[in-house]
Amino acid sequence: MALDGAHQRSRCLLKIADLIEQHADELATLETLNNGMAISLARGMVAGAVDTFRYYAGWSTKIYGETNPSDPSFFNYTLREPIGVCGQIIPWNGPIAMLAWKIAPALACGNVSILKPAEQTPLTALRIGELMLEAGIPDGVVNIITGYGETAGAALATHPNIDKVAFTGSTEVGKLILQASAGNLKRVSLELGGKSPNVIFPDADLETAVPNSVFGFTMLSGQVCCAGTRVFVQCDFHDRFVDALTRYTEKVVTGDPLNVKTTVGPLVSKEQFDRVKGYLDIGKNEGARTAAGGTLPGGKGYFVNPTVFVDVKNDMKIAREEIFGPVASVIPFKDENDAVLQGNDTTYGLAAAVWTEDVGRAHRVARALKAGTVWVNCYNNIDSISPFGGYKQSGIGRELGKHSIDLYTQIKSVWMKL
Ligand code: NAP
Ligand code: MG
Repeated sequence: MALDGAHQRSRCLLKIADLIEQHADELATLETLNNGMAISLARGMVAGAVDTFRYYAGWSTKIYGETNPSDPSFFNYTLREPIGVCGQIIPWNGPIAMLAWKIAPALACGNVSILKPAEQTPLTALRIGELMLEAGIPDGVVNIITGYGETAGAALATHPNIDKVAFTGSTEVGKLILQASAGNLKRVSLELGGKSPNVIFPDADLETAVPNSVFGFTMLSGQVCCAGTRVFVQCDFHDRFVDALTRYTEKVVTGDPLNVKTTVGPLVSKEQFDRVKGYLDIGKNEGARTAAGGTLPGGKGYFVNPTVFVDVKNDMKIAREEIFGPVASVIPFKDENDAVLQGNDTTYGLAAAVWTEDVGRAHRVARALKAGTVWVNCYNNIDSISPFGGYKQSGIGRELGKHSIDLYTQIKSVWMKL
């Protein structure tokens, strides 16, 4: 049974938002325990989820069909209908945010949701599931299913009675989901990996470009799909920028994620820690030099010191593969054209940023970069009002904004003989 009636759906989504807000401290703490993200960031993620539920509460009463100028002997109109049962598979890096991006629009459009959190991070999804029951969501409309990707996840992707699958995670698994969906031709939306270029021109304002570039690759210990991990700097500005970037990176406060002063917590798991450690070795073996970090603080917890590699070439492994740790590669460029060519020379296309005070250049480069999101003189801005998703192998479809309404509805054309 889905939620009947647009107003009822709207009220339910508003109630979920209120309950998440009332439990904000509890959920933020649980999210930090879930994956190690700094508590200040977890609070921001909870607030973002509240906004997302409120935003889609507004949409449920504004999903219209249309009447069409058909031959006068007919009346032709469209209905925008839910897709049905939606399997939603989310990763461990931002569980609360990803849950909101998936469940809020699915419910706003009248679908049923079966959501599988990542094996490492079930806590907040289960707790929000309880809050949804409290909000009056009927039994069976939202189902939080824990389990492994290879079993529970794969079952969602292949099941003949599931009509749509929405996935956020690695590009590798995204391809498996797409293949598995072919059995009953599920609607598929994918948010996958990235290797986003962050392009710094010499007229960039250092005061903001430096801290935001560091934020771009260290937020959530770099375990973010849109992390700005390839930092392109124009040659004649290179040494000055690297110097400032290095000094700022070394000041980043890593440590206990429950401490409000911490900006960067540990990595999520031993598996992820080993993976990132492996890339630190790969970078050194490829001939890159560490200007900051490159080391592990040791002691308890899966911490990696924020790392800046310099003398990197765009064809090195560390510049091509998603590391998912607090590791940036600085790569020089000659001019605007070279910055765009190198920035686009990647199989990914999730996000990009450009730093310049030249308005014409900012718009030219924003147009030329092949990415689903381009930030100009800022980084990591995300809001439920604005679409998010990838070019190339970073995904299929756009989430958030009105675009999620397209992902979670289908259109029926009705012809009536008059
Ligand atoms: P992942 O395997 O892609 O996990 C994402 C989700 O997919 C999890 O819920 C996972 O379940 C599930 N899954 C795994 N195999 C599946 C399958 N065959 N069918 C259906 N669902 C499946 O990501 P990961 O292994 O945790 O991380 C590996 C790398 O992926 C990271 O180092 C990073 O580079 C990238 N990654 C990217 C994002 C992103 O936001 N773009 C997020 C996470 C990871 P289980 O976790 O329960 O197995
Ligand atoms: Mg996995």
